[in-house]
Order: sequence, then C-alpha cells, then structure tokens
Amino acid sequence: MRKNIVAGNWKMNKNFEEAEELIDNIMTALEDKELPENTLMILCPPFPYLEMCSEYSDDSYFAVGAQNVNENDKGAYTGEVSAEMLRSLEVDYCIVGHSERRAYYGETDAIVARKVDQLLKNDIRPIVCCGEVLEEREAGKQFDVVRRQITDGLFHLSAEQFGQVVIAYEPVWAIGTGKTATPQQAQEIHAFIRGLIAEKYGKAVADETSILYGGSCKPSNAKELFANPDVDGGLIGGASLKAEDFMGIALAF
Ligand code: PEP
Repeated sequence: MRKNIVAGNWKMNKNFEEAEELIDNIMTALEDKELPENTLMILCPPFPYLEMCSEYSDDSYFAVGAQNVNENDKGAYTGEVSAEMLRSLEVDYCIVGHSERRAYYGETDAIVARKVDQLLKNDIRPIVCCGEVLEEREAGKQFDVVRRQITDGLFHLSAEQFGQVVIAYEPVWAIGTGKTATPQQAQEIHAFIRGLIAEKYGKAVADETSILYGGSCKPSNAKELFANPDVDGGLIGGASLKAEDFMGIALAF
C-alpha cells in the first residue's frame, strides 16, 4: 500500500537556533499525537541543518530530505552538494525539479533526470516536482506540461528504480500565493499522472507511487485535498515553518 506523506520544504528560511526550535516543537507535537497510520513525515531543511535533523530523526518519527542535489558525482563544482554527501548524512529523500529551481537556476527536465540518477545511485528517494505556470493553465496546457516533465525527467528509469520515486504535483500559480488548487483540480491531474505511470510501468507500480499535492496547502484545506483517491499527501512550503500548522496538515489524513 502506498504511503501517505507530508513533506516540509523549509526553503531558505530559519537560522540554526530557529531550526532547532522548530524541530523541537515538531518532536513535542509528535510525542503528544501520533501520526495517522501509514503516514510518513519528511523534513527538508536547508543543507547546513541536515546533520542536526538526521540526529533528531534517529529517535523520532520523521525522515530527512534535502532540497537539492548536484547532478554530477563529485569534483570542481564550487558550492554544490553531491548525492554521496547527502547519503553520508543519512538523508533518505531529496526534492528535485522544484519550480523555484526550474525558474531561478535553469533546472531543466534533462538535469532533473541526471539528479534523479545520482540520488538513486546513492539510495536516496527523489521527490520529483512537476506543475504548470498560470499561463499554461489558462491555455489548458497543464496536462501537456506535466506529461513532458514526467516523461523527460523520469521515464528513462526501470520499473524497479521508479518504485523509489515520489511525485509532487505543484501548480506554480499556487505556490506561496495563497491560491490553492481545488480538490477537483488536484484530483484530475493526480489521476492523470497515475495514468501516465500505469501506461509506462503498469498498474501495480502506479498504485504504489505516492503523488503529493503542493501549493498553499494549510490545515484548513488539507483534509479536502487529501480526501481525494489520488492525492497521497502534500509537499508543504510556508505552512511547514510552524510546527502547529505542519502538524495540523499531517493529522489531516
Ligand atoms: C512549495 O514550495 O513546495 C510549496 C508548496 O510552497 P507553499 O506551500 O508555500 O505554497
């Protein structure tokens, strides 16, 4: 049975002390209330806090994810972080192809594919983001955009490798804008994505793939989004920065 996942993308927020405080608060909340069955929480802090998060995660109920990785093995890539480095810090997940990286750092589908390969080679599960911008949605092109991102970024994988992948559908017009996709809009695209996976790898692989929704998800709308049969949780930005909000979303399954 595929997992329900709530993943917090902290982006470039929090200094070290604030990060520690957030983790402490999440841990206290997790001690107070158990996550619903079959639910996995993933925290994706900035690189400098990964080790601290990994140490905390040893005796808690969350997994640790990075927000980015370099597409090369190692070498003269100043300022970059490799998948092997992440593995050595016991990082189990990594976000790839986030719309902010596509827009500000030129992350193409071809680069996404290479990053995914690096992660899988190092036993790290990629959380691969896809989603259309507003003009594409208004032109009715959301299905074409998502098909291209998934096909070019992921469909070079074997079925076994694909089984390690988590997908996050994040309509760019909903990220950080306060504008959330309706539950119907989310379900429609999630079902489409699962259909693409079934066509390529078969129904069993598609049924096992967790497909998360991202874009202004908060405690007040998580329940109706997660109630959809093809929405298996959320990739959460802003609302993951407050333990209370993040837990509110995690408890919405
Ligand atoms: C994100 O950036 O992955 C995201 C979903 O952000 P927000 O929840 O703030 O819209």
